[in-house]
Amino acid sequence: MNYVIAFGIIAVAMAVWGVLFYWYKANFKSQPSRAALWEVLREESIYDREKQLLAIKNEFGISDQAWKECWDSYHHDVDADDLFEQGASHIKKNDPIEVLFKRLLLEYGINPERVTLTMIKNDADFEDANSVQNLDENDRIFHDIQINYQTFKESDAGVNEVILRHEIMHLICYDSLALLYLYTLLKESGYSREQIFNAPSVIAYNHGMELRADRLSLYHNKKLAEYALEMYQWAHKTLKNEKLNDMSISHPSYEQRAYEIKKLIKRMG
Ligand SMILES: [Zn+2]
Repeated sequence: MNYVIAFGIIAVAMAVWGVLFYWYKANFKSQPSRAALWEVLREESIYDREKQLLAIKNEFGISDQAWKECWDSYHHDVDADDLFEQGASHIKKNDPIEVLFKRLLLEYGINPERVTLTMIKNDADFEDANSVQNLDENDRIFHDIQINYQTFKESDAGVNEVILRHEIMHLICYDSLALLYLYTLLKESGYSREQIFNAPSVIAYNHGMELRADRLSLYHNKKLAEYALEMYQWAHKTLKNEKLNDMSISHPSYEQRAYEIKKLIKRMG
């Protein structure tokens, strides 16, 4: 075990989870039972993420130096970001999807002016929702959540809330940015896109990231978690097509997501 590298990973994890802790304190300090669960979920998530990242480093044979530089840059960008700085506190929107989106951002303490909502229209192949983080020309992180407008318009508010909270949690954990850094590092190390995304360690990392976003976006609200459970159980029973197979390298099955949410609900007491 190289301690410098181990420290690098812990520092990255702390940067991300430091932000989350700030968000938690701002929002949930009045719920002591949830606070205890939060602490446990946070610890578990840090541990799992470190383990999954080290497995990727080992599978691809990345040098300690290249690995450290990658995560130092990521850490630097996350530290400099102002996602949680104060911005507009009121919402002037008419579309109910936009109103819900802005309300949730404010609830998480996020500056709504720092996140765009892109409505994808007339694209049947586009999945329900997606979160995107990248650096703009001034090396500032931009945060974007893309949704399939048609699907959202036809779904009820509960479904949309589960999906939007999940995507917002990816932003809060800087998951898309981490994936971008990881992908760039592996690509520059000579691996193809296919080799990267089909590697068992990358699949495990991606699945872990999805289950974490599910857990952390639902742990504070039992009703919503039960709603999500029903949603995923329904999806598991009903949706059986090629698209799901394509999704399996980036997402756990709906069956597994439902199973994990069921476990979470039990822990919520
Ligand atoms: Zn996701």
